Amino acid sequence: MRDDDRNAHRLKIALFGHPLGHSRSQELFAAVSGRSCPEIDYQPVEVSPAGLEAAIERMRRGEWDGANVTIPHKGEVLRYVDSLDLSARTSGAVNVIVRSGEGVLHGINTDGEGFCDALKVFSQGPPDLEQAGVVIFGTGGAARGVGAAVRQRGAEVTFVTRRPGQPPSEVMSLAREIIGWDSRRLSSCIEEALLVVQATSLGMAPSTEEAVPAPRESFRKGQYVVDLIYNPPETRFMQQVRRQGADVINGWPMLVHQAARALDHWAGSGTGKALIEHWL
Ligand code: NAP
Repeated sequence: MRDDDRNAHRLKIALFGHPLGHSRSQELFAAVSGRSCPEIDYQPVEVSPAGLEAAIERMRRGEWDGANVTIPHKGEVLRYVDSLDLSARTSGAVNVIVRSGEGVLHGINTDGEGFCDALKVFSQGPPDLEQAGVVIFGTGGAARGVGAAVRQRGAEVTFVTRRPGQPPSEVMSLAREIIGWDSRRLSSCIEEALLVVQATSLGMAPSTEEAVPAPRESFRKGQYVVDLIYNPPETRFMQQVRRQGADVINGWPMLVHQAARALDHWAGSGTGKALIEHWL
């Protein structure tokens, strides 16, 4: 579809995931709909793992022009799209689908680049990731998207997961090290890291009492920490590591930047900046 045609019609975008109660994406896009981008009809669609293929087929038939994909489908959805961009291939995770007029579905990952864009909001400026130690909690879709983007910038990445013996293949190719939560290496990896990324769903609304079992005393001043969760705005994990002196941000800036990149794909290059101007 040409950029002119895109602007001429109302964009119908689905959000596929389960659960979706925590998501603020609908509100995010509603604020800029029709203002320096086409009108956006953004529809959260609760999809269980068993219903994912059928939901993608509805999209292929034309029910939506594009989609966001979230928990827990970012990896599984690779099986159902027709092509992948490099970031989706490297991470094994898709968070954006673009449907061409002929019903061809293209899978993209904007999480990783959106994450790196968001690092600019740190008060001390973005960290230099070249040869920097980065620890990522989790190996899910978001963790892999972030891992691929920081790896591309030269970081040495350690993933922490419940199943260190059976990581997804993309994690094996991105990681310097893959360890379990019970590893004796966990404390020293965190202490040595310049950047720690909390990419699990622990602590996300409504389960706000939960937190990753990371040793708090290993966090320190001079360290950058990002919790990808944005609802609630301050997780228990964030409170704990802030007390240790680390510089901490939540997932809101990443959410806005990955959405801006998604809108560029759905509505034409440059349209996504409306989201950044409105929300950040
Ligand atoms: P996902 O693919 O379903 O992955 C779930 C993640 O949570 C995995 O990394 C998994 O780790 C971890 N996990 C789940 N239960 C756990 C437990 N009991 N103990 C330890 N780890 C556990 O979901 P996702 O799309 O990656 O999303 C993960 C989080 O990132 C969510 O909170 C989501 O809202 C957030 N997110 C934010 C943005 C943003 O723009 N700010 C974008 C994407 C995602 P293992 O299986 O490796 O142990």
